[in-house]
Amino acid sequence: MARRAVYLQLSMNPSAPTPSPTSAAFVDEAVLLRLVRIDQLAGVRRSVRAALPVNVVLSIAAAIVAWNAGRVEAGLWWLSLSLAVNLLRLFLSRDVPADTGAAVERQLKIMAVSSAASGCVWALIPVLCDGYTSPQTLFYLTSVCGICAGSVVFGIAYAGVPIGFVTPALLSVAACLSYAGGFDNLSIAATVVLYLAALLRSAFLSERVFCASSRLKNAATELASQLHREHAISSDANRQLAFQASHDNLTGLLNRQGFTEATARHLAERAGQRHAVLLLDLDGFKTINDTFGHQTGDRVLEDVAAWLRTELLELEAIVCRWGGDEFLVLYTPREDQHSAAQLAQTLIASFASRSMHSAAILGLSVGVVLFDEADVGDSITFADEALYEAKHAGRNNFRVFDEVLKERSDRRRDVERDLRRAIQAGDVTLMYQPIVRIDDRQIHSLEALVRWTHPSHGPVPPEEVIHAAAATGLAEMLLRHILDEVFSALRVLEAAGPRFADVPIAVNISPREMVQLPVDDIVLGMLGRRGIAPRLLQIEITEEIALDFHATQARLNALAAADIAIVVDDFGVGYSSIASLRSSYVRRVKIDRSFVSGLSGPSRNAALVAFTVQVGHALGIEVVAEGVECEEELNVLRSLGCNLVQGYHLARPETLETLISSPAIRYASIADSSPR
Ligand code: C2E
Ligand code: CA
Ligand code: CA
Repeated sequence: MARRAVYLQLSMNPSAPTPSPTSAAFVDEAVLLRLVRIDQLAGVRRSVRAALPVNVVLSIAAAIVAWNAGRVEAGLWWLSLSLAVNLLRLFLSRDVPADTGAAVERQLKIMAVSSAASGCVWALIPVLCDGYTSPQTLFYLTSVCGICAGSVVFGIAYAGVPIGFVTPALLSVAACLSYAGGFDNLSIAATVVLYLAALLRSAFLSERVFCASSRLKNAATELASQLHREHAISSDANRQLAFQASHDNLTGLLNRQGFTEATARHLAERAGQRHAVLLLDLDGFKTINDTFGHQTGDRVLEDVAAWLRTELLELEAIVCRWGGDEFLVLYTPREDQHSAAQLAQTLIASFASRSMHSAAILGLSVGVVLFDEADVGDSITFADEALYEAKHAGRNNFRVFDEVLKERSDRRRDVERDLRRAIQAGDVTLMYQPIVRIDDRQIHSLEALVRWTHPSHGPVPPEEVIHAAAATGLAEMLLRHILDEVFSALRVLEAAGPRFADVPIAVNISPREMVQLPVDDIVLGMLGRRGIAPRLLQIEITEEIALDFHATQARLNALAAADIAIVVDDFGVGYSSIASLRSSYVRRVKIDRSFVSGLSGPSRNAALVAFTVQVGHALGIEVVAEGVECEEELNVLRSLGCNLVQGYHLARPETLETLISSPAIRYASIADSSPR
C-alpha cells in the first residue's frame, strides 16, 4: 500500500506546488491512526467513569421500586449484579498505559465487552416488572430508554461501547413487549426498535466526528512538534555554521573574519581608550613542520593556542590565529595591567620556559603596537612592521612600533603610492657598474642597477623599489621599463665607439619576478621588436628555492637557449649552492661580496674563492668577484686566478654618459699594478 501522509503546506500561496515528502514536514498515516485510537481509548475511559454514577443511581432506584413492589429478593439480586458489573467497569476504565497499537485495540474491545455486560444486566429488568407488564413498567421503560440515551451521549469516542450497552437492553424491551402482545405493546416495541436504530446510527456518527477531530488535533500537534524539532536542528546548524565561519578549524581561535567582528564590538564598547595589538610569530616553526611532519606542526599550533588562551585569560583579550604560525592579540590595557611591551616580554619568557613540543627549536617573536580608534585600520600593518623588525633582531625578540618604524612604514606607503607615476614619468632610472677584466683591462660587461629618488623621502634602495612594484602589481611594468632603458643604453654604447660597442648589459631579475612573470616571453619579445642581439643582454638572478619550480627552470632554459647569459648572483650565500652550477643554463657566477671583503685580512675566504674559481674553470663557467673595495683585495683575487672583478675600487655605478665620457680613470689601479 502506498504510504499516505499528511503534509503541512508551508507556503501561504495556494497555487504553490505541493511540497515533497523529503522537504516538508509530514505525519505518517499509520502514526496518525495510532494516535487517534489512543485518543479514543482515553475518551472511552473518561466517558465510562462519567456515566457510572448515573448507572449506579438508576440501578439503586430500580431496586427500590422493585422492593416497593414487593420483589425484594429479585431487586437485591439484580442490584448486586449491576453493582458488580459497574465495579468491574470502573476497574477497567482506570488509566493504564497501552504501549502498542495491539494493546490499544485490546483495551477498546474489553471496554466494549464490559459495556455489553452492563447492557445485559439492564436487559434483565423484565425480571423486576413481569416482562414490562407490571404497574412499574412506565418507570422501568423510562429508566432503560434514558440510560441508553445517556450511554450514546457519553460514549462518542468509540461506538462499540454504547452499541454494546444499548443493543441488549433495548432488544430485551422490544422482545418482552412483543411477547406481551396487544396493539399498544407492539407499537411501543416497534418504537423501541426504531429508537435502537437511531441510537446505533448516532453512536457511529459520533465516533466518526470524534475521530475526525482527534485526527486534526494530532496532525497539528505532530506537525508543530516536528517543526519545533526541525527549527531546533536548523538553529543548531546555523550556530555551527556561524562558529565555523568565524573560527579557525585547527585551534578553535578566532579567524580573521571573527577577529574583525570581535574587534569592532570590543572597540565600540571601549570608546576613547588606547588599545594594543600584539602580532606573535613562532620562530623555527617551519623546521618543526619540515622535520617532524605536519601532524606535529598542527599539534604545536593547538598547544600554542591553548597556552595563549590561559596566558591571556584575565585580559579580556581577543585572540586570533592570523594565519600559518602567526597569532594576533588585541586588548585594552588597564592601568593595573602590564604595559603591552611587558606583556610581550612575559609571553616570550613564558613560551621559552614551557616544555611544549620541541620547545627547544621554537621561539616567539612579537610585534607590538599601541593605537587609538583613529589608527585601527593601520594597527595590524604597524604590528607587522614591528614584528618584521623583531624577527630581524633574532629569535625571542619583541619590538614596539615607534616613530622610527612609523617613518619607515610611511615611506613604504608613499613609495608604493608614487611608484607608478615615477615609472611613467621616467624618474626610475638605471646606473651602470662595469665588470672589469683584469688581464686586458677592458670592460667585460655592465650591470644595470635601478635608481629612484623619491621627491620627499630621497633615494629609495633598489630592493625596496622592486618590493614595492611586486606589492602594487607593477612588477611587469617596471621590468619592461628597465628593459627599455637597457635597450636604449645598448644603442648608445654601440654608437660610442669600439671600446663599448659590444659590451653586454646585465639586468637583475629577482626570483619572485622570475616566478610570477613570464620573463622569457617579455624579454625575448622586446628583444625581437627592438632588433637587439640577445647576447648583449645578460640576466643576474640569485639562487632561491623558488627557482626550483618547473616553470622558472623552463624560463631560464628558454632565455639561455636564446643566447642570453644567465648569471648566478651572490654565489655562496643564502640559498645558492654548488648544485646550482649543475644547471646547464648557468654561464657565470658572481662570488658574493661577503667573501671578497674578507680577502685583505686572514680568513678562509681566499680558499673558498680559489675553490669557486677552479670549479668554474672546470665547468666552463665564468667567475666574477663582486664588491672589490681596495687594492689588496684586487691583488689577492688576481693571485687566485679570478680574472673578472666588480666593485667600488674599480668603478662605482654611474650614469651611462659619465661612464662613456671618462672611462680611463676607472682602470688606474689595474694599470698601476699590471705586470705589463
Ligand atoms: P646586487 O645584484 O648584488 O648588486 C650589487 C650591489 O652592490 C649594488 O647595490 C651595487 O651598488 C653594490 N656594489 C657594487 N660594488 C660595491 C662595492 O665595492 N662595495 C659595496 N659595499 N657595494 C657595492 P644596489 O645598486 O644598491 O643594489 C642592491 C641590490 O638591489 C642588487 O644587489 C640587486 O639584487 C637589487 N637590484 C638592483 N637593481 C635591480 C633591478 O633592476 N632589478 C632587480 N630585480 N633587482 C635589482
Ligand atoms: Ca646583481
Ligand atoms: Ca650581487
